[in-house]
Amino acid sequence: MGKAERCGIWMLTVLMDNKKILKTNETMEAAGYGEAELIQMPRFSIHKMYIQLRGVFSKVTWRRLVCNNKGSPKWIFMLRLAIHAKLLTKAKLLKWGVVQDAECSFCNTTKESVAHLMFECNISAGVWKRLLVIWQGVTRQTLNWQGEVLWASTHHKRKTPDAVYRMTMASAVYHIWQEQNARLFKQKQ
Ligand SMILES: [Zn+2]
Repeated sequence: MGKAERCGIWMLTVLMDNKKILKTNETMEAAGYGEAELIQMPRFSIHKMYIQLRGVFSKVTWRRLVCNNKGSPKWIFMLRLAIHAKLLTKAKLLKWGVVQDAECSFCNTTKESVAHLMFECNISAGVWKRLLVIWQGVTRQTLNWQGEVLWASTHHKRKTPDAVYRMTMASAVYHIWQEQNARLFKQKQ
């Protein structure tokens, strides 16, 4: 390798290193760290810097219901869809022209929405109430969907009973939705 080539490689290396240093400076500034501050800092925390870069955002109330749920993954997937109101209920299918009416697949008297199926509908509410009492010894009135999600999210301190409640809720949502699908698409009564 000639002198000119070696000099070229050396220049390229310096330029690349400078680019990395500049990029690092930009990242540090984005996290709120100035050069002078960094020099005087006795200890540096990567975790704190990560939080600074990520920013602060409010945690969703239902995270404990979904994240700490020991139920089957398919139950939890369905529970997530229900929480986000993404289940394709008849009210939604009617808008797409897939079904002829939006009446609930169970009671046939009210518009079918996630909130109605979980657990405002008399039939699903009856199932949920029995699950609460028989499996968990919970004797309170059944709540509406938002209320149940909130209750599950705030009752998480008693390890075993609350874990059972979260699993039961995921299971109930899954099986109610399976039954709704069977009635709607397989004409089951
Ligand atoms: Zn109904």
